[in-house]
Amino acid sequence: MEFRDSPEETAFRQEIRSFIEQNLPQQRRHDEVMAEEYGPPADTERAKFIEDWKQALAGRGWIAPHWPKEYGGGGMSVGEQFIFNEEMARVRAPTFGGFGVTMIGPVLIMYGTDEQKAEHLPGITSGAVTWCQGYSEPGAGSDLASLQTRAVRDGDDYVLNGQKIWSSGAHRADWMFMLARTDPDAPKHRGISMFLLDMKTPGIQIQPLVNMANDHAFNQEYFDNVRIPAKNLVGEQNRGWYVGATLLDFERSNIGAAIGLRNTVNDIIRFVEENPDARVQANQAARLELADRAIEAEVGRLFSYRIISMQKRGQVPNYEASVNKMYRSEVQQRIAQTGMRLVGLYGNLWRGNTWAPLRGRLSHMYVASVSATIAAGTSEIQRNVIATRGLGLPRG
Ligand SMILES: Cc1cc2nc3c(=O)[nH]c(=O)nc-3n(C[C@H](O)[C@H](O)[C@H](O)COP(=O)(O)OP(=O)(O)OC[C@H]3O[C@@H](n4cnc5c(N)ncnc54)[C@H](O)[C@@H]3O)c2cc1C
Repeated sequence: MEFRDSPEETAFRQEIRSFIEQNLPQQRRHDEVMAEEYGPPADTERAKFIEDWKQALAGRGWIAPHWPKEYGGGGMSVGEQFIFNEEMARVRAPTFGGFGVTMIGPVLIMYGTDEQKAEHLPGITSGAVTWCQGYSEPGAGSDLASLQTRAVRDGDDYVLNGQKIWSSGAHRADWMFMLARTDPDAPKHRGISMFLLDMKTPGIQIQPLVNMANDHAFNQEYFDNVRIPAKNLVGEQNRGWYVGATLLDFERSNIGAAIGLRNTVNDIIRFVEENPDARVQANQAARLELADRAIEAEVGRLFSYRIISMQKRGQVPNYEASVNKMYRSEVQQRIAQTGMRLVGLYGNLWRGNTWAPLRGRLSHMYVASVSATIAAGTSEIQRNVIATRGLGLPRG
């Protein structure tokens, strides 16, 4: 692994830094509330900044840095994406595109019809259209292939009935990409299809699910005879499992999240240095604990480097991506726990309270990070992957 940038990479990093310098006002750096995470910004001045920043990124194709330029992306190599994400995370810059950029866009580039590409890709790269993911159901999470939502062909449409759950951002999304069962008699992986669903279609009922951090981040949806035009089938009927499992060769190191951990550890250190009460809390044991967290955040960063160095060599990360995800999400929880111990009772203060340490970010992270080891594949599932594919152990 070569840690230093090549001359080309140095120039590219400089280009990104200049872009940030010109387009991201100083007071907006480290503005922790992301644009799409909690809905439209409350104040108009912030709303204008978000829109300007979005336009600046879209103008360069940088809402979708890893997509080919012909589809409105940035055409970046995996190495360039790594640098781009690293630099953006360093200043906690707002990002856009969500599931559209990371999941359905790449799937459409690979499997979509020309009509689907023309209809959907420009809205994603301009940041105008938001997507949600409709995979999980009450009886199908880790064992996703057990999903029961049915889509039955009827003339030019499919008719959808069933339920999805934990759909992040579905209440704000314009479209959902989703998996539904189209052949109940086939073996379970072979009877599933992928669809694009306009969230304004009659028959969709969205119910909010408010999480323990008091965020309305995800939802459950009920489908009652919802008609999906057959042109919105992605790939072939009954091949949705394989379409949905597609991972294109884009950046999987998640360096942004790793830098985020380091940023939070730095924030806690700064808080302890500046705050006499926290200094009292920071006895020898607590100092060692904080040092452990700093080291773990650094190890998380090195795991990201491992992934990117594999990708640069043309290898496809497999169990290594599971190691990365599992480790990072567990460290995130430990950092939040250490931080809460150090801020003491102030940790009970929430966002919006003047006295809340780190503007309430820590208290929020403490409760929100509980889900980190569940979302996008639980730690147990990641451990299974590491055991079987990484260590060659037999299946349990
Ligand atoms: C914050 C958040 C956002 C999410 N966003 C979305 C979204 O946008 N769209 C979407 O479709 N889904 C979303 N999900 C759902 C997520 O994908 C599922 O929660 C996850 O896959 C786990 O499934 P489950 O909740 O049904 O738990 P289950 O699969 O029922 O698991 C329950 C427990 O059993 C364990 N377990 C299950 N199988 C095994 C096994 N084989 N070996 C060992 N242990 C096992 C699990 O690790 C877990 O501890 C989100 C979840 C969270 C927490």
